[in-house]
Amino acid sequence: MKFISLKDCNLTDDFLPTRLPHLPDLEVLSVNSCNFSILPVSIKEFHFLGRLDLIECNQLCEIREIPQNIKRVLAINCTSLTSESSGKLLSQKLHEPGNTYFVLPGSRIPEWFDHCCKGPSLSFWFRNKFPSIALCIVLSSPTLESYKLIINSTQRIFFHIGTHPKFTTDHIYLFDLKMRTSEDDIKEITVKQGWNLVEVSCVSPNKEEMPKWVGVYAYKKKNNMEDISFIRPDYAKRKFDDFLNYNPDSKLVGDQSLKRHPALVKKLERMTTWCYHAATPIILEAIWSMQAPPSIKILLWEICHHELPTCADLYTKKLSDSPICHICKGEPETLEHVFLLCPWTRPIWFECEFQWIVDMNSLKCIEVWLCQRLQKIKRIYPNFSQVNGLLGCICWCIWKGRNEFIFDGKPVNPMNALKRAETLYKEYSSSLSSSEAFSSIF
Ligand SMILES: [Zn+2]
Repeated sequence: MKFISLKDCNLTDDFLPTRLPHLPDLEVLSVNSCNFSILPVSIKEFHFLGRLDLIECNQLCEIREIPQNIKRVLAINCTSLTSESSGKLLSQKLHEPGNTYFVLPGSRIPEWFDHCCKGPSLSFWFRNKFPSIALCIVLSSPTLESYKLIINSTQRIFFHIGTHPKFTTDHIYLFDLKMRTSEDDIKEITVKQGWNLVEVSCVSPNKEEMPKWVGVYAYKKKNNMEDISFIRPDYAKRKFDDFLNYNPDSKLVGDQSLKRHPALVKKLERMTTWCYHAATPIILEAIWSMQAPPSIKILLWEICHHELPTCADLYTKKLSDSPICHICKGEPETLEHVFLLCPWTRPIWFECEFQWIVDMNSLKCIEVWLCQRLQKIKRIYPNFSQVNGLLGCICWCIWKGRNEFIFDGKPVNPMNALKRAETLYKEYSSSLSSSEAFSSIF
């Protein structure tokens, strides 16, 4: 017998170890909506078992062993699984040979993945041939949506992650890409010489179906890792050096040669290494190229990497008694609250050049918001690097206003903060154009 389905059977914990050992050729075992709590060690004896369906086995807490040839496990809504059992299902050893497709409750991309991004998309680079990869996606709702890989901004490959019953919590999909797409499509990818850009895009019009995290893993035995890059090839070093040598007008923020501040350089180095694995290249690029004083760029980095000491942050680190915002006393002071949602900051965004209304319902997190806004600026303004500086100056003045309230007791005033930001932006822009004019004379 190769296939058994025991859906909705009232299986007890002794059924699996005592009855199933008599079926050594079993290939598919489906025990959906059953009541057992332990998947016994004897499951390992099914050497040919390739597929295991455990959908809605919500009593199941322990998986003691996993058959070695298993390729597909659906543990949807198995919400009682211990973290050790989930860890077994997500182990690198199990997935390294490829061809797997696993769905189970969870909200973290396994640590052995090469690269992951918060939000619905990520990018990586390859050369010579399209690599053999696994993807991991964290979703709060099952989806019919087909997601895509965009190669060199022109070719598209669609992949479907499968429809399932409604989730009761966040779920992880971990799969070999070739299990969810057509192999012919992969073979037909035109590879250009040098580095090729791949964007994994899981954007959906439905917010529920938008992944919370996306991760990518390149199979180590099937790829030459020198031909894959998870940071922009030849980008990091050059840009970082540019940044260090940057010396803008000194009248705004004092002497700006960053090399004179070794502690700051160290901090930046740490942040850049980290950020390449977390922030999308879009934010990265926009912040690097933004025409703004370095201190403002640093602030934006800190926002993107959750390095600012907000009340909510200090509270989670047990450094403060309360996470609540000192200014409005209404909500926990998260980064989103400081910059976008606190009642005094909302009018700043509306009254400024951009006239943005912060939509609380569609707001996911500040990095995604920033990314969307920077893209919007890029679409609208031909001189976007300069205009991005205004966005930076506004964030800077909001953070300054917030700090002056907390540390000096100065009342907050949206219109004053906006005026300050606009003045800073104008002064900085004109100092840049005058220094350009100056350097063109000589
Ligand atoms: Zn507030």
